[in-house]
Amino acid sequence: MTRAADGRRTREARIDLDALGRNVVRLREAVAPAKVMVVVKAQAYGHGALPAALAAEAAGADWLGTADLEEALALRRGGVRAPLLAWLHGTGADFRAGAAAGIDLGLSSLLQLERAADAGDAGGADGPVRVHLKLDTGLGRNGIPPRDVEAVFRRAAELEHAGRVRVVGLFSHLSNTDREEDLGQLAAFERLVELARGEGVEPELRHLAASAGALALPETRLDLVRLGIASYGLSPDPRVDVAPLGLEPVMELSAEVVAVRRVPAGHGVSYGLTWRAPRETGLALLPLGYGDGIPRAASDRGIVVIRGERFTIAGRVAMDQLVVDIGDAPVEVGDRAVLWGDPAAGAPSVEAWADAVGTIDYELVTRVGGRVERVHVGGPEGAAEAEA
Ligand SMILES: *Cc1c(COP(=O)(O)O)cnc(C)c1O
Repeated sequence: MTRAADGRRTREARIDLDALGRNVVRLREAVAPAKVMVVVKAQAYGHGALPAALAAEAAGADWLGTADLEEALALRRGGVRAPLLAWLHGTGADFRAGAAAGIDLGLSSLLQLERAADAGDAGGADGPVRVHLKLDTGLGRNGIPPRDVEAVFRRAAELEHAGRVRVVGLFSHLSNTDREEDLGQLAAFERLVELARGEGVEPELRHLAASAGALALPETRLDLVRLGIASYGLSPDPRVDVAPLGLEPVMELSAEVVAVRRVPAGHGVSYGLTWRAPRETGLALLPLGYGDGIPRAASDRGIVVIRGERFTIAGRVAMDQLVVDIGDAPVEVGDRAVLWGDPAAGAPSVEAWADAVGTIDYELVTRVGGRVERVHVGGPEGAAEAEA
């Protein structure tokens, strides 16, 4: 990977594992006595799964969560010892390997429940296979549909009685539509917990809230909250301000300026020449494009900070390159251009970027491409060097 004159990478996503750790500590305090699961799916929202997981674990995360079982298995192989839950499975997911690695299985159907029990019989686990039943309380996606829950609870009670599975948790996921909808889902969830109890299923953990619910609707915290975006210092929703909690953005995305030039008024930039210089101006070229996860929708509107000054992208974002209108600013080749990071350090926020380009902060950080080098700094020993 090329190094710029400042010693940093030409394209770099700097991941501050100490900031991640501080976020986890603050979030645990904020939601106590509920426990915290830090969600590290999708490469920890683009931050690098294993370094992020190790940093979160060292900072006191009670649990770690992933979507795929394979993601959780990779964390175990990488030395993560905290309780792990994985909740989205294809038919090929290796439940036996999951159970053997001490990973709790989030299950969304009767078929998955049978497969989990069989995995234990096949020698997967020491004792009963640990499962959390995921209930659909209105989102209409993953989760046991309402018409099936009773049959699943009954079968879970049988399997528990036979010592083949242990139902550690019941959980669901909120739609984050508004307070009324979310409280309606909470009530539906509580009714299902009662129904499970009636069938003899009494798990120790009930969990419902992700970042938005955990921060905006305290009554949804229950025993455990599953925090993804907030752990990375970002807001789950424009209606939820995370700054008062002292959360710090963990990722800073930057690139070096690889060329500068001056162009006369009327000069066009990039494909389709959609942008034309309104006056004689300077242009800076950055080696970042949609191949690196910069949305094409950032054409003519994305924000970039160079030497503390804010500029706007001029013309279309291409696959590998984008151009910034720098006016008369004294920008030079080798200068660092920051696209997003910590506003407290003068960087544009990911949230402001998301707003400018019509998406959400989740999508921006998660889609940072493979050509952008993740540089992990801080964190517990070994975390920054861990294979992301
Ligand atoms: C992704 C996910 C989360 C984390 O959501 P955030 O909004 O990032 O906190 C929690 N629970 C489930 C089931 C998820 O899929």
